[in-house]
Amino acid sequence: MADNKTEELNRRAKAVIPGGVNSPVRSWKAVGGVPRFIARARGAHLVDAEGKVYLDYVGSWGALILGHADPHVVAAVQEAAARGITFGAPTEGEIQLAEMVRQRIASIEKLRLVSSGTEAGMSVLRLAKAYTKRQRIVKFDGCYHGHADALLARAGSGVATFSIPDTAGVSEAVTGETMVLSYNDVDETAATFKDHGAQIAAVIVEPVCGNMGVIPPAQGFLQTLRNLTRDHGSLLIFDEVITGFRVARGGAQEFYGVVPDLTCLGKILGGGMPLGAFGGRAEIMDLLAPDGPVYQAGTLSGNPVAVAAGIATLEALDDNGVYTALDQRAGSLQRSLEGILESYEIPATVNRVGSMATLFFGPGRVANAAGARRSDGKRFARFFHGMMDRGIYFPPSPYESAFLSLAHSDADVEKTILAVGDWARGEGRG
Ligand SMILES: *Cc1c(COP(=O)(O)O)cnc(C)c1O
Repeated sequence: MADNKTEELNRRAKAVIPGGVNSPVRSWKAVGGVPRFIARARGAHLVDAEGKVYLDYVGSWGALILGHADPHVVAAVQEAAARGITFGAPTEGEIQLAEMVRQRIASIEKLRLVSSGTEAGMSVLRLAKAYTKRQRIVKFDGCYHGHADALLARAGSGVATFSIPDTAGVSEAVTGETMVLSYNDVDETAATFKDHGAQIAAVIVEPVCGNMGVIPPAQGFLQTLRNLTRDHGSLLIFDEVITGFRVARGGAQEFYGVVPDLTCLGKILGGGMPLGAFGGRAEIMDLLAPDGPVYQAGTLSGNPVAVAAGIATLEALDDNGVYTALDQRAGSLQRSLEGILESYEIPATVNRVGSMATLFFGPGRVANAAGARRSDGKRFARFFHGMMDRGIYFPPSPYESAFLSLAHSDADVEKTILAVGDWARGEGRG
């Protein structure tokens, strides 16, 4: 339970910040209780304002694949900041980061840096509509692409957590251009293209959904999207804000071998600093101002400190053994948790791709947003608090991914397994 310091910070926060937080899921509304205020962090561990230590499986929502305050990244940030925090003029670092991204993600010939995943999603749609001279966008129920108006129809993440059906303040004229289909439903997508293909500018999809909890693409789903968009002159956009540099060095497109026209990046790209990007074929990207008619801009875009963090992070991920190691450690955690929960007869399933995973409580597999919504949110809240009590910090919502970082050791994984076993022993009886 939170003692006075946390309560006091929460009161002060709520007086000046709506809900006390600057991003809704941080409020713990889905699980109840008072959110911890974080004072500092290192490696796989967070320290809250009361000095309590937690093993962290949030990793700033997937941004921190190297763990907190990685010394290499911190040094790069400090050196960059000392040279000047922002110039509003081009820098060599931006070229270097763009070249590094292009080397890793073959479908990206040119990219533009922005300051968040939301900006990447918003800008990439404008570009897709301009390129195709079409207006309609297809997205999938539960996929989150940032909070741009047109993309807030049935979005995941905080929107799913709070069951906001249609966000207030967004006109139907805007979301009306967005068609929302069920993730992994190949037949529905094919039928939609049969009826409306000529009007569809783009399909935007999380190639592994991470915002209704982790939901992997069904066999053939991504390839079907590729074929349908190609056949109908639409663009395929992979939102790899989570999966980029997470599931493989070249993202989900390398992992699954499906090549999109355009890609959104964020989170790991900035190594914990505010940074996003969108990119793709030069022929499309060259429509952006100043060379083309599609306006897009940012005072802090390509910020030199954020770029330095990004370069340092991507350098550390150069060794492909990194992804094998993450996958093995996460796999052993998954198998242990499934075994424990089964032995206590707690129906649950772990969805996982590499180092991103979600524990869904309830019978049956979860393959789309409807399945995620059927999962047992009350039991998830008990699990969340049970883990907090044992010093382990999971995402405070059943619709978010947990992330393993390179800073998580075998001992950390072992500690997690013991904690879940301890919790399940009490829960199983209840
Ligand atoms: C986090 C996320 C975004 C939004 O990025 P922000 O930096 O929070 O604006 C977009 N798409 C996906 C898939 C995400 O997970």
